[in-house]
Amino acid sequence: MKIEALPSPNFNDRMSPIDMLVLHYTGMQTGQDALDRMRDAEAQVSAHYMIWEDGRIVQLVGEDKRAWHAGVSSWQRAEDLNSCSIGIEIVNGGHDWPLPDGALPPFPAAQIEALIDLCRGILDRWKIPPSRIVGHSDIAPARKADPGEHFPWDQLAAAGIGAWPEAASDPANSQAEGRSTISGLSPGDRGKRVGDLQEMLAEIGYAAALSNHYDEVTEACVTAFQRRWVQDQVTGRADSHTLKTITLVHSLYVS
Ligand SMILES: [Zn+2]
Repeated sequence: MKIEALPSPNFNDRMSPIDMLVLHYTGMQTGQDALDRMRDAEAQVSAHYMIWEDGRIVQLVGEDKRAWHAGVSSWQRAEDLNSCSIGIEIVNGGHDWPLPDGALPPFPAAQIEALIDLCRGILDRWKIPPSRIVGHSDIAPARKADPGEHFPWDQLAAAGIGAWPEAASDPANSQAEGRSTISGLSPGDRGKRVGDLQEMLAEIGYAAALSNHYDEVTEACVTAFQRRWVQDQVTGRADSHTLKTITLVHSLYVS
């Protein structure tokens, strides 16, 4: 794998060991715009790597240094995630730069293949558990939507990068649930079932407060979960399929 070095001035020293991987989309009109911004000292942002649509990889910050990609964020009750993570920016216009028909711009196959190669190398070099491979939206659900509900997390998991519960993408399973009696939960709901949902989200890693109230933070965490695991149903509402999938991911993460 060939990696082009185009250093960024935006980094400092890590305060903790590397045990996390954070994936982003650039969310700008072009990859060049994102690259220029990450190399501009005024912008105060960076990532360790950026991957162009055609699969070319750029390294901006050395893995031993602390790049500035996560911002205010939290996962598994820890903050300062820049200190313990490697950040990869994937060139994609995302929600701000949709296609003319309004759809999110797809990630080309060559780009995802390069990402998988890069991630495999990173996972060989550093001890990063599957539960600590996340999207930016997972760690900053109220602020961020990247890498988006069009990002192929299932394809990465099939390549050994991140966890994926078998049943999450099984339509037969989804249909069976449709006939089941589990009722969903919605923003505004209160009670112990909401508390149980918040506890599972928090144990997976999301910054969901245990209030027994389906508040805006809970809604943002459910939305982030759906962007990753229930991608055709990004509603912020915990319908029965979403609840089932949260239970599956929770048992993968907490076992
Ligand atoms: Zn991001």
